Amino acid sequence: MINKKIKQPCKLCKNNAGFIFDKKIMNKYLSSYYECKKCKFIQTEKPYWLKEAYENPINDEDTGLIRRNFGMSKISSIVIFFWFNKRGLFLDYAGGYGLLTRLMRDIGFNYYWTDPFCLNIFSPGFELTKKNKKIELVTAFELFEHMENPIKDLEKILKHSKNILFSTKLIPKNTINISKWDYLYPEHGQHISFYSQESLENLAKKYKLNYYTDGVMIHLFTEKKISKILFSNIPRFKDILYFFSKIGLSSKTHEDNIRIGKK
Ligand SMILES: [Zn+2]
Repeated sequence: MINKKIKQPCKLCKNNAGFIFDKKIMNKYLSSYYECKKCKFIQTEKPYWLKEAYENPINDEDTGLIRRNFGMSKISSIVIFFWFNKRGLFLDYAGGYGLLTRLMRDIGFNYYWTDPFCLNIFSPGFELTKKNKKIELVTAFELFEHMENPIKDLEKILKHSKNILFSTKLIPKNTINISKWDYLYPEHGQHISFYSQESLENLAKKYKLNYYTDGVMIHLFTEKKISKILFSNIPRFKDILYFFSKIGLSSKTHEDNIRIGKK
């Protein structure tokens, strides 16, 4: 029998994940954290506290929500501009209150929203339906670290598209102080899966996809072969690149207003 305190199977590659430290979740539940010896993925013990952690799906303390959505709308526009059909259909997966979907439609992209846990406040009328087939690119920001079953959840996203632009902070290269890493956020209990660059490389390979990253936070799984250097520099030059990415697009703000008004 496996001693839970010592090791667990890695949720990504099934190799041994060894105990690394304990941490108090939501100031009340003590959880162990495990690191995969092979792919370096880190997972908490079975997160029995999730129901409580999601009583309010978007944290009250998440003061960066609006700013992050503006930043991600720029990054998404640039990635679409360089490598995808800008007239295609796009989906913001686990899109929260629908802010990114609205921002992307305001820029001029045909964007849709889906999220089983949140109310679509900012982009009503643009929920994903069965008619929305052939999604060019899915965006999934700040989602992967919330996944209880990353393989199952990723496969759900892959049913929509083989191109996924997502964000999650990579485990730092130097893990000496990993128990103090701010991205663990034990206070709110929602971050339960943490990825090394290697673990994401392996995941992409498993589904025969190419993997691109900025080495910190922004990642792309795609069937396409693109420039590694250009992709990794997008966050650094996002303001200037965003300026070019909008050329030739016309905002859907007014068009949507008329469309929703007719419903
Ligand atoms: Zn692993």
